[in-house]
Amino acid sequence: MRMQEEQLILHQEDVDLAGVKRVGLMGGTFDPVHQGHLVTAEAVRNGFQLDKVLFVPSGQPPHKREKLITPKEKRLLMTELATVTNPYFGVSAVELNRAGFSYSADTVSYFRQLMDVDSELFFITGADAILEILTWKKLDDLFAGCTLVAATRPGFQPKVMADWLEGHLKQEFLEKVITIEVPAMAISSTDIRDRVAMGRSIKYLVPEPVEQYIYKQGLYAE
Ligand code: NAP
Repeated sequence: MRMQEEQLILHQEDVDLAGVKRVGLMGGTFDPVHQGHLVTAEAVRNGFQLDKVLFVPSGQPPHKREKLITPKEKRLLMTELATVTNPYFGVSAVELNRAGFSYSADTVSYFRQLMDVDSELFFITGADAILEILTWKKLDDLFAGCTLVAATRPGFQPKVMADWLEGHLKQEFLEKVITIEVPAMAISSTDIRDRVAMGRSIKYLVPEPVEQYIYKQGLYAE
């Protein structure tokens, strides 16, 4: 086994959810993780009284087959650097260690079996991603295991999303989708990658250690 793979697997063993009652999973590609993601996770933790929020970088997103994304060990390390100072935050490499495409339903099932039966699980991600939910696999398993929290960017019309979901999801699923507006989500990973490519500053858009890592590794330079 290559050293990189071995390290990712060792990382996964850190997750211990026994006795933890309210858990958030922050799902995203995190290419790179930014302040908007951190503010979102903290707002949901606070608003929903979560005991822990685990950031779960996507391994191989099924909808990004054609797109180039930064290698998983680099996205994992940036996520670690960004979250390390918040005692309520953690990182899981479960999707990075899983072969094949990353399906959120599999991730939710994985965490469910680590948790007590009376505990609650919240899967937090971008509203844009949730608007594509009909293309996601195993929706029954997903909704059986968690409540979805959709973080919207400023300017996003919550009613548009609510109407769309109402027209496309069963009532029992609809009750398990919550929308939260996060002003800091004006920051986006795409914009950060573009800024680096154009030589523009990303200071304060990402945590400083992440900024330094991006430059040191030469990420997004082209
Ligand atoms: P994406 O297409 O890269 O992002 C969609 C939008 O959501 C972007 O605007 C993105 O902003 C935002 N976003 C992504 N993660 C976020 C988060 N945790 N909090 C707030 N905003 C977020 O989507 P993605 O990151 O690849 O996927 C999001 C999650 O959905 C992942 O966990 C992924 O595995 C899951 N997903 C599952 C399936 C499936 O099960 N079949 C299919 C698609 C996605 P930024 O670019 O700034 O992050």
